[in-house]
Amino acid sequence: PDQTYAERTTESLAHMERAQAVMPGGMTANIKHFAPYPLAIKKANGCKLYDVDHNEYIDYLMGYGALALGHAHPYVCQSISRQIEEDGTWLFGTPHEKEVTMASRIQKHFPSMELLRYANSGTEANLLALRLAMAHTKKYKIAKFEGHYHGAIDKLLVSVHPTPTEAGIHQSPHSVSDSSGMSQEDVDNTVVLPFNDAESCARILEQHGNDVAAVIIEPMESGIIAPKPGFLQQLRKITNRLGIVLIFDEVKTAFRTSLAGVQGLYGVTPDLTTMGKVVGGGFPFGVVGGKREIMEQSSPLKGSDFFADGSQDHHEQKALFHSGTYNGHPLILAAGIATLDILESEFNALVTRTEWFKKELSALFQKYDIPMKTLGSGTMFSVLLTEREEISSYRDLQLCDHKSRVKLDKALFEAGIYTKPGNRYSLSVEHDEHALAQTLKAYEKVIPEVLL
Ligand code: PMP
Repeated sequence: PDQTYAERTTESLAHMERAQAVMPGGMTANIKHFAPYPLAIKKANGCKLYDVDHNEYIDYLMGYGALALGHAHPYVCQSISRQIEEDGTWLFGTPHEKEVTMASRIQKHFPSMELLRYANSGTEANLLALRLAMAHTKKYKIAKFEGHYHGAIDKLLVSVHPTPTEAGIHQSPHSVSDSSGMSQEDVDNTVVLPFNDAESCARILEQHGNDVAAVIIEPMESGIIAPKPGFLQQLRKITNRLGIVLIFDEVKTAFRTSLAGVQGLYGVTPDLTTMGKVVGGGFPFGVVGGKREIMEQSSPLKGSDFFADGSQDHHEQKALFHSGTYNGHPLILAAGIATLDILESEFNALVTRTEWFKKELSALFQKYDIPMKTLGSGTMFSVLLTEREEISSYRDLQLCDHKSRVKLDKALFEAGIYTKPGNRYSLSVEHDEHALAQTLKAYEKVIPEVLL
């Protein structure tokens, strides 16, 4: 435990040097965990990760929240093996039974998803949702919220992490590009809204109402900041009035905030919902679903697509294009359905365990008189170092002491607790009392070292 990071991660450093020769920054995504180089992980088991130097960690990143059952849950393994052994393949390229089974399992929890389609990531699901909304309304601007992430989509990589100087005033946020390589046109055609401020949303949307196809929102901001009472209801009213499609991006929150997502908790019905992460059991997966009349635009029975027999159905309008070699991948559906099987019976107990853990963490910080707040519902939350009573938007989140939180995460990491610094904690059914108690012990050790 007294070894320094460099001493205990020599193999990770060696890995990084090899990786940098073949990938920009040595990584396959722009995510840097610890400076000066991230860990390379070799193995996992339950709620544990093991790096290439054989160090053990309790994993709270859980594949960015995707692994609600921990790593390689035996029931999911069985379901995947059965798919291959009994059905003889992992890819049909045709309609098949698991597509229907999964749809009805999702609809049981998300009745707003009257019809649905599969994709291969949250990003892809959101791309399809935007196209559906634009085709439905014949309008081409999109409105999104400052601080909300919806994947690597040019129209939506806008004002995800604007600096305070770029961002403008809260009531009228500017549209700020989050990446190089994006056209100014995409940025200009994205209208940015302030979360939890229905009045400003109404004013901004009225200004652009004739052009805006969709409002897309993380209904629980960053998966943790709750909508104020009435906010989602008001947004529903405004979008209805202006003929704008309301899209709930529940990629983070579906089967985490509650089994029925944020829409289930708050009783608001969006036009379209997108999800990913948990529902794919840790495999690449995305789902779009919602109102029948919007979803049906992508039915080949409605458009002018060619049928297999060479005949063509003549309609005025083309069907909305949606395709993908791997859409409805049997192996992924096998993993996802198995995940829901377990989660449906264990979710409530996991929420109770998460609540207990949050309370114990708060008590520890209180003991040392350090202002701390846990934010989030269900099986996912964040530890915020702040005295603020109310955290109601991205801007409030930025005012928390992020630097100390990252220092704390680094010390916790040295004590065997893993998450991306500053990120949310995602629990899994494998995080039992023992693992949580071990984590609390690590906190007890590092809080006085780092924060006092
Ligand atoms: N929407 C939200 C709310 C997300 O949190 C994420 C991923 N963190 C995405 C979309 C993109 O999903 P994916 O990484 O599967 O493309």
